[in-house]
Amino acid sequence: MISVEKAKEIILTEAIRIKNQRNLSENVFLAESLARVTTSPIQSPISVPLFDNSAMDGFALCSGEGDSLKIVGEIKAGDPPIPLQEPQSCLRIMTGAPLPPGADTVVKKEDVVDNGKMIQLSRSISSGENVRRKGEDFQAGDIVLPSGTRMTPGVIGILASLGIQKVEVTVKPRVAIIATGHELASSLESLKPGQIIESNSVMLQASLLEMGMEPVVCEIVEDDPKRIQSSLMHAVENSDVVIITGGVSVGEHDHTRQVLHEIGVQEHFWKVNQKPGKPFCFGTIGQKLIFGLPGNPYAVFVCFYLYIRPALLMMTGDPHPELRRERLKLACSISKKDDRTHFLKGRKIPFQLKGTMGGQAGGGPPPERNEVSTAGGGGEDRTHCPYEAEPLKGQGSHLLRALRDADVIIQIPAEKKEIKEGEEVEVIFLP
Ligand code: AMP
Ligand code: MG
Repeated sequence: MISVEKAKEIILTEAIRIKNQRNLSENVFLAESLARVTTSPIQSPISVPLFDNSAMDGFALCSGEGDSLKIVGEIKAGDPPIPLQEPQSCLRIMTGAPLPPGADTVVKKEDVVDNGKMIQLSRSISSGENVRRKGEDFQAGDIVLPSGTRMTPGVIGILASLGIQKVEVTVKPRVAIIATGHELASSLESLKPGQIIESNSVMLQASLLEMGMEPVVCEIVEDDPKRIQSSLMHAVENSDVVIITGGVSVGEHDHTRQVLHEIGVQEHFWKVNQKPGKPFCFGTIGQKLIFGLPGNPYAVFVCFYLYIRPALLMMTGDPHPELRRERLKLACSISKKDDRTHFLKGRKIPFQLKGTMGGQAGGGPPPERNEVSTAGGGGEDRTHCPYEAEPLKGQGSHLLRALRDADVIIQIPAEKKEIKEGEEVEVIFLP
């Protein structure tokens, strides 16, 4: 059995190795580039803003020509520039319209008295106010994005505003999902006595979609070695990463690891000192990563966010593949009996709200706090830390309900048996 840290190190080392060996990039439309990473610097073909323009609806004028000015015309966004030629005149101007040559300032509509023909300034103005300058954001030729930038909606917005339609980015890993288990039914209609509804594959699919990825294969198979084998071979052939859930433990019908060995997967580890997800196994075959997750849905959830998501992002060249972590104070004391690293469904709560959310005060839904919490205690000054982490009720790895409220995973170190209310713990923020 290896530690959480070691497991992560092994996985990320393999992910980097494969990324470096593949070193693939492709030119794609902006909409398809989400969650990938630029493979070369991107230069701006134009300046942004493209020209000096008005930041307000108002009047364009040349400052210092007096308080009383004649309105000689109008310019709106999208119009070509109109020069301001006559002395002591102004142009009615709309937000985004080009600043007329000859004008240097825009006065807000609200700052003048306007009789339709003339305006009277109702306050003193400073030259250049309310003008958005050409090239304020980017000058033509500027490096907009260095190589290695992750494409986010904001970054895509920047490139779109520069008229860039396609971008050279890393290739997304193709991911296959296989859920195994005799007991799995895919719908209430097909559910037979003793069966359960399969949820892992759909949850994993959603987790991938949230990262801008989608599975190329998604299958549900029985605990039958032959079927698992053909499904795995198909998955390995058609993808770069295989996530298979169920059947990695020691039960009579747990065939996944055996089949992985048979098809030539090199197992790097099996069993991680964690709860949930202890029988987690990880292997590689050529340039492909294989994750064998235990079937319990919360174990799948934890393994995905802790190990698989960072590996997938690493494979796309993301410089920051890990979820954000922070140290927060624990909202209630907890204890555990084993020496495993525990990952608890939790939520971040404002410290001020503590104890006021029981349904008595605000009338909101009562929080589902962990039964292991003990009341009272604390008392020290925590005003410097506005949030704390609260473990939610329903920590069983077969239970998902708490994920409705969870926004963090609380990590309890392997060596700790007890953590008191107010002690700091590491918290992993869910995306
Ligand atoms: P296993 O790892 O195959 O021993 O499964 C552990 C537990 O997870 C069992 O209670 C299974 O019924 C459950 N389980 C396995 N696969 C799934 C799945 N795809 N969706 C929901 N529950 C599952
Ligand atoms: Mg099973």
